[in-house]
Amino acid sequence: MNALGRHILVEFYDCSPDLMNDVVHIENSMVVAAETAGATVINSTFHHFSPYGVSGVVVIQESHLAIHTWPEYGYAAVDLFTCGETVDPWVSYTYLKEAFQAGHGSSMELRRGQLSLLKRTDFNLEALRNLPPKTVEADGAITRDVWFTERDENIALSLKHSGNQLYKKDSPYQRVEVYETLAYGNMLTLDGMVMCTQKDEYVYHEMITHVPMFSHTKAKRALVIGGGDGGTVRELLRHEQLEEVTLVEIDELVIEACKLHLPETAVAFGNPRLNLLIEDGIQYINNCEDGRYDLIIVDSADPVGPGEGLFTAEFYQQVHRCLTADGVMITQSESPRFNSAVFVEIYDTYKKIFGQDKVHCYLAAIPTYPTGTWSFSYSSKGESTPLRFDREAAAKFSKEQGLKYYNEEIHRAAFALPNFVKELLQQGGQKTIEAYSVESSDE
Ligand code: SAM
Repeated sequence: MNALGRHILVEFYDCSPDLMNDVVHIENSMVVAAETAGATVINSTFHHFSPYGVSGVVVIQESHLAIHTWPEYGYAAVDLFTCGETVDPWVSYTYLKEAFQAGHGSSMELRRGQLSLLKRTDFNLEALRNLPPKTVEADGAITRDVWFTERDENIALSLKHSGNQLYKKDSPYQRVEVYETLAYGNMLTLDGMVMCTQKDEYVYHEMITHVPMFSHTKAKRALVIGGGDGGTVRELLRHEQLEEVTLVEIDELVIEACKLHLPETAVAFGNPRLNLLIEDGIQYINNCEDGRYDLIIVDSADPVGPGEGLFTAEFYQQVHRCLTADGVMITQSESPRFNSAVFVEIYDTYKKIFGQDKVHCYLAAIPTYPTGTWSFSYSSKGESTPLRFDREAAAKFSKEQGLKYYNEEIHRAAFALPNFVKELLQQGGQKTIEAYSVESSDE
């Protein structure tokens, strides 16, 4: 070969948008495409961007294969770069065209490093040889760097995962996926947004349940809207005083995915005290009788897709109607920093429905949620107030149940709000939001 390398620039068109957004399929295809062409794969690094798009590179002994996809155009730009005679990059081209179900591909081969244009300089190979050789994994396994990324314009959370997608199905409402992350265990995502991980789900689930249960000690009937991962009902059912716990989840695939891959979170789905309903929580609450529940927990995802209607005044008004005279509503109320505008708007709504001094905000540290700081709202229809609670009972319960986050001190501390959150809650208004929000301006 009269050149050091062969570089094929490839354009794949009319590919399946789904495949162009499937980081696991793309990473596997690129690795196999290299091996099929006779290359020795050293490692791979792939990133799945949210809301869509994948970028990655497979490093081979004979150079590299790289890709970037635009699922919205069914398009992939691929670089196949090999050096030496042993690998035929066109074999990779043919393999990938099929793997991506490309309608058609255009390509151009460049010879890189024309020998006639190069002058070899003598350099002391020995000196280079003193460098310790990079070891390939003992069992020949390649080091795979496959990343899941949840991001908005300016902020991203990336988690490395094993490259094996444990679960991926589209329900009528959303895409339900489970990834095997290396740092946080199995992770449930809905439409590319992190819902919970095995390593930190307990923070969210202990705080959304035990705070109201120790400040509203007469609660007998609880309703959870959303919460299909099962963590919230798991925690509620630790409280023997609850005679009935009803879970209304719109999407049975979320329950299926968690039973399979987040079993510790889904452990209570078989509990006889649990009344599990697969239906739209908005319909359920509209048809529910007045004053039926002591505690209503809105364990929703973000205000998009099926969950959008769970962030409206009409919905909260219905919740208020379905609470007993001393009932309490708890919601996950987003991040004061990441969703400042939504945060301010929903607290304004809670206050209009429950009363100015009946609404309280508390915080918890959840590492895999955007900005790591998440909030919950406590709205009381009657006299219940979050900081009037049985500290001893809370301490005893936390110890006996082996809780990992909630205890009597955290219960109290969670309501100690930093000044910027107080300002957002008291003043609200665009100026305050802009002052503290990390949301990208064009949202
Ligand atoms: N902890 C998570 C968070 O803060 O992002 C939320 C957990 S949970 C998985 C959210 C659940 O709400 C999802 O399973 C979703 O299917 C469900 N959901 C969304 N809209 C719903 C609706 N209208 N009625 C009932 N469940 C709904």
